[in-house]
Amino acid sequence: MKNQNCAYCMEGELVAAFEIKICELESSKVYLFKEQSYMGRVIVAHKKHVSEIVEKRAIPMGDINNIACAMHEIFNPDKVNYGAYGDTVHHHLHVVSKYKDGYEWGWCIRYESWC
Ligand SMILES: [Zn+2]
Repeated sequence: MKNQNCAYCMEGELVAAFEIKICELESSKVYLFKEQSYMGRVIVAHKKHVSEIVEKRAIPMGDINNIACAMHEIFNPDKVNYGAYGDTVHHHLHVVSKYKDGYEWGWCIRYESWC
């Protein structure tokens, strides 16, 4: 079921302001993040409006694995990181490519320090 207030359910202008939809997988939609400080960064959103990643096995690890493999092949990052923060915007996570000589390499958001 779609939530009328959710960017990933409704798509349109709210998503288009920050992301470009690049494909749909079995259970998820993949968006290239327009701001490319992390070259190749994408957002993966479950097709259904679920609150928690664990709900209905939202965003299968197979999809995430395929996305990370494609990211390694296309952008050749030194590391791929995964972040799920969705207090108000649910059912999505960030797949972020990082480079040793790139933006914020070594920055740990958990400790808000370099690690
Ligand atoms: Zn939604």
